[in-house]
Amino acid sequence: MEPLRTAELLSIGTELTVGETRDTNAGDLARDLTRRGVVVGRITALPDDLGVVTSAFGEALARADLVISTGGLGPTPDDLTREAIAALLGETPAVDPELETWLRALFVRRNLPFPEANSKQAWLIPSAVAIPNENGTAPGWFVTRADRRIVVALPGPPREMRPMWDGWVVPRLLERGLGRPIASVTLRLAGIGESAIADRLGSLLDAGSRPMVATYARADAVDIRIWAHDDAGEEPAGSAAEVVAAAEDRIVGMLGEHVWARGETTWPAALREALETRGWSLAAVEIGLRGALLALLGEGLADKLAFGEVLLARPEPHDGHRATLEHLAERVRELGPADVGVAVEARERGGDTAVTVAVVTPDGAHRETRVVFLGGALGRGRAATATAAIVLARLRTPA
Ligand code: AMP
Ligand code: MG
Repeated sequence: MEPLRTAELLSIGTELTVGETRDTNAGDLARDLTRRGVVVGRITALPDDLGVVTSAFGEALARADLVISTGGLGPTPDDLTREAIAALLGETPAVDPELETWLRALFVRRNLPFPEANSKQAWLIPSAVAIPNENGTAPGWFVTRADRRIVVALPGPPREMRPMWDGWVVPRLLERGLGRPIASVTLRLAGIGESAIADRLGSLLDAGSRPMVATYARADAVDIRIWAHDDAGEEPAGSAAEVVAAAEDRIVGMLGEHVWARGETTWPAALREALETRGWSLAAVEIGLRGALLALLGEGLADKLAFGEVLLARPEPHDGHRATLEHLAERVRELGPADVGVAVEARERGGDTAVTVAVVTPDGAHRETRVVFLGGALGRGRAATATAAIVLARLRTPA
């Protein structure tokens, strides 16, 4: 049987469409499905409206092999996911005696009367199997259609949905055949903007090419994601892993000086690795960043880091700016005491932020100024990232 290759996700509940609740479920499921080589074609949030939800299931099933919904499985009249699936498939829900016994026992256990509204949580339709819920009263539905497409309905609360997905649904989907082997790699870049990257990558970014290449501007980096599925028919030939590795080599060839990490590496993790490689510790002082460098590195690098001070402002330098920042780097290195001393100062310039970094290592001193995009908190965040990039480059530069 052909594996399930495509999926669509429906997030059901008016609390989502009015912005009271953030949809975390769809993102979590999409990430997991993508890693399993399933192409998620669409994510849709829907209000508690029977007509809207029913037609959304119909449209999604016309496009995708697998449709997964979360939400709308509560006992109240506004929770309509079961009704929608039953209406779409033309089946009539009926109370399942086994589910009803289980559900009633949950109330007896707590010495509570059984509210009749809850009996719809014991409903099944002929083509659905119940997905047990160990953390709530809403079982899910696992529906196999005549055309082998699958509908999975899960409850909305993440602490109920996640264990049902991981523990029950995924194993069954794997049995049925889920996704195609996928290879993917993410390169993390600093010191270059997304549009400049796009210029250099050129046709590599074309939609539908093999492998697929995309850029994502994030707070701490611009990521380049490269991925491909195993597919005998597609050009260029080669396994997913081979075409991804070849593209990665090409891209590193074009942009290597900006690539500071692969995968999900963070700045603290990259600096930690570089410090451990050299057997060094680090002390830093920041001026004008209002704690942005501490916020970027403090949590992930606490045991390797001594922060001398976080200064909001400082007096005019008496013997020239250049000497002063380097002197601060030396001082914080002594005070740490640490092998590496860093002093950084950020100043708004025009609408942007100029950041000057002095780094003193056992190999020598280095000083560098960069101008990062925007002022204010965004500029200070980018100034912190630029500082991390400058320090990382010094740590990785052999003496
Ligand atoms: P329901 O299954 O519709 O009764 O969902 C109950 C609760 O689950 C909601 O009130 C939300 O707190 C939570 N919830 C529902 N959908 C989502 C979602 N897509 N992402 C995160 N939480 C959700
Ligand atoms: Mg609901």
